[in-house]
Amino acid sequence: MPLYSSHADNCSRPIGNYWHTTVELEPDLALALEGDQRAEFAVVGGGFTGLNAALQLATEHGADVALLEAGNIGWGASGRNGGFCCVGGSKRSLSDLVRHFGHKETFRFLDCQMRAIDHVRNFLDTHHIDANTHSDGELSLAHRKKAMHGLEADAAQLRKALGIDVTLHSKDELEKMGVAGPEFFGGATLNRGFALNPLKYTLGLTKAAKTAGARIHARSSVIRIDRKEGGWCLETAQGRLHARRLIMVTNSYLEEDLPGAPFSALKGRLLPVLSSVLVTRPLTAEEMAAQGWTSHQMSYDTRRLLNYFRLMPDGRFLFGMRGGMNTTPRDDMEMGQDIMLDFFRIFPTWSDVEVPHIWSGFVCMASDLNPVGPLDGAPDAYTALAYHGNEVAMGSLCGVAVADMAAGAVTSSDLPVVLRGPLKRFPIPRLRKTYLKVAYRWYGLRDEKL
Ligand SMILES: Cc1cc2nc3c(=O)[nH]c(=O)nc-3n(C[C@H](O)[C@H](O)[C@H](O)COP(=O)(O)OP(=O)(O)OC[C@H]3O[C@@H](n4cnc5c(N)ncnc54)[C@H](O)[C@@H]3O)c2cc1C
Repeated sequence: MPLYSSHADNCSRPIGNYWHTTVELEPDLALALEGDQRAEFAVVGGGFTGLNAALQLATEHGADVALLEAGNIGWGASGRNGGFCCVGGSKRSLSDLVRHFGHKETFRFLDCQMRAIDHVRNFLDTHHIDANTHSDGELSLAHRKKAMHGLEADAAQLRKALGIDVTLHSKDELEKMGVAGPEFFGGATLNRGFALNPLKYTLGLTKAAKTAGARIHARSSVIRIDRKEGGWCLETAQGRLHARRLIMVTNSYLEEDLPGAPFSALKGRLLPVLSSVLVTRPLTAEEMAAQGWTSHQMSYDTRRLLNYFRLMPDGRFLFGMRGGMNTTPRDDMEMGQDIMLDFFRIFPTWSDVEVPHIWSGFVCMASDLNPVGPLDGAPDAYTALAYHGNEVAMGSLCGVAVADMAAGAVTSSDLPVVLRGPLKRFPIPRLRKTYLKVAYRWYGLRDEKL
């Protein structure tokens, strides 16, 4: 039984996504798969992970690769996220990572996150893609006075144990930086990361992968996968793709009841969680000054149910939040009201500002780690997913890593332990949304009261 209403998977449904107003979509950029085709590698999923995997296979391994995407390219999280290209990718906090994996492995994992940011920057530079980038690092804002202690502890750990510099800011210093609001009591800048227009990045990847020889097929939902002739046969409504090796990078947009071992291997192991974004009309200089927010630094607060926000180069303000339990049209409407309430509470002087764009999508949680590696019980099949709501950057680097692994150039032991999985099944998977409800209640209480 699907966890969310089928409304969520309807690829032809408009989602009110602001990024679509910033690009011209070329109708023949990625045509649907038709008839019987062959490739050495099949990639399922046309987001950052799949597109980076296809590009890496075509450029670095000279491989014959075909990618199948259910919707238009970037239909999933990659074409609709907040565009924070920053560190992250595990649901564990820094201290938790150190406790479980030790300093060396935590450092390896953090190093990967830094390289992931550089990877995206290098791609944009090399391919001359103007993805409206801005922000020099990321700013974490204490939503309560006591939350500053957590930021100070993390900063000390990053500095001492890992040699990564973090700058702490008092409330007064934040105000001088153009970062003011009734819920900001101090902050910490990590000097890594930047913000981008995620759809421009996605389309840039698509063009680069095609130029390198990868075949990219949109509107080609894989409806079953069978083992055939020692490889895989992937079936869509209009065609079939035979491939020797398979890379499944469907992330939270996976329909896990579809027939075939690669689908079964992921069944009950992922928890899609809703995240929503709004974008205002361009703000005037007076409106920014009235709020005291003039900074273009990408920012988020210290809540577990976090809010993330940034003033974009065109003067529009983007604001995102987690929450929501379903995706029917009524739920979408209620989610729209909730995100506006949060936005106006945190930025009260903008409560009259028009908000023409609100949309939501799924981020992908797992019960533990985010694995890059072979899919259990499905030979010659690999996956990379479950970045826990975060990874423009890590999704991209993990796409490269899973491609290298499928091509036999690296093995799991070349990756930090944090990225090796395994992807555990949730206990009683049909209760996943109940666990989520309980987690939301607990985090909500911890964020606001404890
Ligand atoms: C609203 C929102 C805001 C976010 N903000 C940020 C942010 O600011 N920074 C950040 O780092 N991360 C953010 N994220 C998370 C980030 O977008 C994802 O982690 C990342 O895009 C994952 O990329 P992906 O390629 O693994 O998955 P996706 O982009 O989800 O791609 C998977 C694709 O697989 C396709 N697919 C599924 N099943 C099939 C099938 N059977 N056949 C063919 N194709 C199939 C889907 O259609 C989908 O397009 C956000 C996510 C959301 C939803």
